[in-house]
Amino acid sequence: MNNNLLGIDFEDWYHPQLVQPFVKDLKHEPKIINGIEKIIELLRKTETSATFFMVGELLEHKPSILDLILDNDHEIGFHTMRHSSLNDLTKEKFLDELDVFDKLSNGKSKGFRAPTFSLNQNTSWAIDALVEKNYLYDSSIMPVKTQLYGFENCQKDPFTISSSSLTKNDPNGKLIEYPLSVGTFFGKNVPISGGFYLRSLPLGTSLNSISKYERQNIPATIYVHSWELTPEFMPEIKLPLKERFVTFHNIKKTYSRLEKILEQHNFTSFENHLKNYF
Ligand SMILES: [Zn+2]
Repeated sequence: MNNNLLGIDFEDWYHPQLVQPFVKDLKHEPKIINGIEKIIELLRKTETSATFFMVGELLEHKPSILDLILDNDHEIGFHTMRHSSLNDLTKEKFLDELDVFDKLSNGKSKGFRAPTFSLNQNTSWAIDALVEKNYLYDSSIMPVKTQLYGFENCQKDPFTISSSSLTKNDPNGKLIEYPLSVGTFFGKNVPISGGFYLRSLPLGTSLNSISKYERQNIPATIYVHSWELTPEFMPEIKLPLKERFVTFHNIKKTYSRLEKILEQHNFTSFENHLKNYF
């Protein structure tokens, strides 16, 4: 059964929030984009469909990656035009971006992920904007509080979200929310679902958490960044120690870890899950 959900946050080397302040003066020439075939190949050999949450300006730069994604049975979703935190946008700007991306993706995008999980009480207008533009789902809520983002006491299975109810089901909500998966590590709740955590925690912690979701009949929802899967396309970036650690720690292990996860568990795109369950 294709129960679990895989989102690839597709962005380039200058997009991650922690990197942005340190690469302002460098020329933003996309490089990670050239690794997409390697990612598609990993998904092909593990017979997995995935959702590519795309930074819009990359589709502008190389429109052919849309067909590459769709023709290989994957889904295109939206990750803002320039990997902006929602805290730096307004509803109006976001609506404009949704229109631009709609054209770039031939109207195929129905799902959204906020960069750095920046959907919060101050940016909940994004939910209204997504509903206005006929989006079907969002996957931006991390049900554990970390330094950068996240919520305590959040529903862990998919629910209908609204701008006044970000963490639990609103019967009048019009958008499905797929919260990211969390697990426990030494008794502490942690995001097991991707990025730094997937690279740094023991792989068994992630695998056990995915199994636990499956036993509860809840889709495990994990995310991986494009640049984590193809670090060979990442240029040398000078970062302070902490940013460097969070961005690059164990980066070369991401590909093989994801491969092991996909060999042991079934994952699919959000679109496929929506079709089957809602
Ligand atoms: Zn991102």
